[in-house]
Parts: sequence; C-alpha cells; structure tokens
Amino acid sequence: MKYKNTKNVPYYIFGKGSIAQLMDVIKDGYRVYFIDYYFKNKELINKLPLKKEDVIIYVDTTEEPTTEKIDAYKDYLVKINKDTPSTIIGIGGGATLDSAKAVANLLTNPGKAEDYQGWDLVKNPAIYKVGVPTISGTGAEASRTCVMTNVKTGLKLGMNSDYTIYDQLILDPELTKTVPIEQYFFTGMDTYIHSFESLNGRYRHAIGDAFAREAISLCKEVFNSEDMMKDENREKLMVASYLGGCAIANSFVGVVHPFSAGLSIVFKIHHCEANCITMRGMEEFYPREYEEFFKMADKQNIKIPTLEKYVDKINEDTFKKLYNATIIHEKPLSNALGDNFKEILTYEKVKEIFLKMLKD
Ligand code: NAD
Ligand code: ZN
Repeated sequence: MKYKNTKNVPYYIFGKGSIAQLMDVIKDGYRVYFIDYYFKNKELINKLPLKKEDVIIYVDTTEEPTTEKIDAYKDYLVKINKDTPSTIIGIGGGATLDSAKAVANLLTNPGKAEDYQGWDLVKNPAIYKVGVPTISGTGAEASRTCVMTNVKTGLKLGMNSDYTIYDQLILDPELTKTVPIEQYFFTGMDTYIHSFESLNGRYRHAIGDAFAREAISLCKEVFNSEDMMKDENREKLMVASYLGGCAIANSFVGVVHPFSAGLSIVFKIHHCEANCITMRGMEEFYPREYEEFFKMADKQNIKIPTLEKYVDKINEDTFKKLYNATIIHEKPLSNALGDNFKEILTYEKVKEIFLKMLKD
C-alpha cells in the first residue's frame, strides 16, 4: 500500500482589497496576464501593476477552454517573442484560471495541449504563476488540473499534474461583487456538489474529507442565508471554493460530474449550470443532498434550468452521445458506484436519468 503525496497551493493571501498586493508576488521581467473579458475596460485593470512590456490576453468565456484555444495562446506568445515570461497571472473564473494554468505548462513543455490531457504527463515545471479568482466555486484556484475540451476527440480532460497547481493565490472577496446572481449560485454550487460527491465515494482520504466537510458547511451557511451575496457570504464562499479545490486533490467526484460532462459535450452547456441541471436526476443517488440543494435554490429564488429548450434535438442518437460522454468517466463512476457501475448505469438507466432533467 502506497499513500498519496499531496501538493496544495504553497502561498495564498486572503482578504478584501488584497489585489493591491499583486505587485509583491509577481517576479521581475515581463508578465503575461490572462484576464476574464468581463474586466476589459473595468476599474480592476487600473489596479494592476502593469508595465508596458507586459502582455494582456482577455479570455472570452463564451466557450469553455479547448485544447485548440490553448495552443493558439501559446503560438501567439511564441510569435510575439513573449513565450518566456517571468510570471503568468490568471484573473477570472474557472475558464480563465484554467487557461492560464494550461499555457504556463505548455510554455515549458514541448508539443500541444492535447498531449498532456491525462494524469502526470507534464514533465517540466511550469512558468511561475499567480491565480486571482473573481468568482467562487470551481476550486480551479486550488486544484491540480485545468479542464480543456478536445473538440476533435470529444475528450474533456485537464492536465492533471502537480505542476498545474498555482504557486501563489490572491483571494480577494471584493472581486466577486459583480458576478450575476444566477452565475454566482451555479458556480458556488460546484464546490458543494464535488464535496458531497467525494464524501459519498468509496475512495476516501481523511484530510480530503475534512476539507470537503468544511466546504459543504460554508456553502450551507451561504445559500441558506437571506442574502447569499452579502460581503460576509462572498468571503465564506471564496474560502469554500478554495477548500473544495483542496478536497478534490485527494479524492474523486461521483455521479453528478459525469452526467454534467455529458451535457457539456453534447449541448455545450457550461460546467456549473450543467451540474445544477444534472441535480434534477440525482435524487436516487444523493437523496439528502438533492433535497438540500433544491431548498437552497428556492431560498435564493434561483430557478434551476431544464433541458426543455433542447427538446427538439433530443432523439435516440442524442441519448447515445449523452450515454457515451457520461460513461467514459470511469474513475468518478466507480468511486461512486463500484467497479461494476456499468451494470447500474445501463443505457436505459442513463436515458431515464437524463429524461428527469427535461422538465420542471
Ligand atoms: P467562467 O470562468 O466561465 O465564468 C463564468 C461567468 O462569470 C463568465 O461569463 C465570466 O465572464 C463571469 N465572471 C467571472 N467573474 C466575474 C465577476 N467578478 N463579475 C462579473 N462576471 C464575472 O465559469 P466558472 O463557473 O468559474 O468556471 C467554469 C470553468 O471551470 C469550466 O471551464 C470548467 O470546466 C472549469 N472547472 C475547472 C476546475 C478545475 O479544477 N480546474 C474545476 C471545475 C470546473
Ligand atoms: Zn465541478
């Protein structure tokens, strides 16, 4: 029996207005910033310690990161001779934080992004990188992966590696003030969902469990309160997101994430919204959490979407695609249901679960 050797983010600064300390944690030389395009021309840009030789790449989050897009960022930096920055800074949500992580790996490792989709394939340490989340929930700021979709193969998988972990974080709860309400709920729930998935799984780790329990407890405080977005709650959710990300380093997700990935691949629904839609079909696997989840959504007046608007596209062929894109996630499914998960999740069963997401 060999125990896992777990790495977490080595440094973090937490506190309101801590973005002002970015200057203290970036290295000399030019820097490359990946910034969520929401912040283009916003006040935040004036707060950054920008120098004229720095490069800013605004990340369009309309689509989640693809391996092609990551390659294109790398090629662009190589083309303008900016491919060996002292620091890469990611400022944004999961999509932006992941793009910065992936490019930091790719600048020190030969080949294409798709070559590193998997576990421990990155051979050389990445460019030094700093993460600044502006929305809480995915835990991308803390995790050892950067999720990318390979459009050609349909594979949605990140570069799982210790080198993918940020070297430094700035956790400034002021930055999440402007997140739209629904998005705040959907993304915030990602940490609640992956934490309960890991706690209900077979593969357990005492420290991972402790992170997950605290993340869940903070999420419940936030989403059962009157105003999930008040200052105190945005602080709590930022902590929950970080802890949830740490939890996942020691465990696996469960049934929700594979179904959610199916929705993202087939209908291009963004990860966190897809998770919430998936919850509609999860009562039999996670009865307690199912009830809690919908209670919290009610409390915050959030209407969980359905698949109704895709109804015209849903036929036997779609179900086959959904089934394939779900069942491919063997690690989380066997974590949740055992090695014989395919006997439980037969094609008919998977179809029945997706049908539960069709209507309110
Ligand atoms: P996101 O990065 O797409 O951001 C969601 C939306 O919020 C975007 O429209 C963005 O522009 C906007 N936004 C972000 N911050 C804002 C702010 N302060 N004010 C106003 N608008 C703001 O979404 P997300 O939900 O944070 O992340 C989802 C992505 O993360 C997916 O690509 C998913 O695959 C990935 N993910 C990664 C991990 C990991 O461990 N690396 C884990 C889970 C999910
Ligand atoms: Zn997730």
